[in-house]
Amino acid sequence: MVVTQGTESDMTLPSWQDTKLGGKIRAALWLETEVGVGNTFTKAELRKAFPEVAQIDRRLRDLRDFGWRIDTSRDDPALKQEEQRYVAKGAEVWIPGQAKTAKHKNSLSAAQRTKIMSDDNFLCRTCGIGSGEPYEDDKDVLSHLNVARREVVLPGGAIEFQMVTECKRCGSTGTKQVDLAAFLGQVEGLSALEQQVFASWIAADQRTRGAMEKLWGIFRTLPVASREAVRQAVAGDNK
Ligand SMILES: [Zn+2]
Repeated sequence: MVVTQGTESDMTLPSWQDTKLGGKIRAALWLETEVGVGNTFTKAELRKAFPEVAQIDRRLRDLRDFGWRIDTSRDDPALKQEEQRYVAKGAEVWIPGQAKTAKHKNSLSAAQRTKIMSDDNFLCRTCGIGSGEPYEDDKDVLSHLNVARREVVLPGGAIEFQMVTECKRCGSTGTKQVDLAAFLGQVEGLSALEQQVFASWIAADQRTRGAMEKLWGIFRTLPVASREAVRQAVAGDNK
């Protein structure tokens, strides 16, 4: 599933204090300019910023339908009860037309979410944990898988949002960006043998022990005279 978004404009943002704008738009601008991605805020701070807007917390919640990610203590156990975290920016709702199309594109159906998770083998693509498993470093917490947006820099420089399975804990660290163009360049720079090994890992969706690792496992157990014989054989091959 691919979600495309227009390239970021250099235009300065409208002011969140502009009372001609709607509550939802002003809340989005407030998050962007006053809070900042990754930072927390409280309901009290929100209400203090918008004393004249009725139901500002509801307007803020509405942003979730447009791809904005705002976590509460229910989503992220690290947050205090009164705290919320601005995790990821969604559609630029202050741009005319963005709000309407984005809602459609950003809301995934249950079937689409299941398809993404199934394609990802029901593993968090960031830390590798499965669904409902305890974390190595915190056995009391069980993982919960979500679908997150990943910002991908395509060859040519365009940015595309692609969906990926991620556990709640990894997702709480903010939007991640991946430079696919640079990564492809590195893969293409591998030797033919390395590419072959890499292809087998991709097929298995894990780093399997290949021929090289098995040979090395045997080699390191050899007595010195035998190791020397192997060393010479390899050096001979490289001539
Ligand atoms: Zn994870």
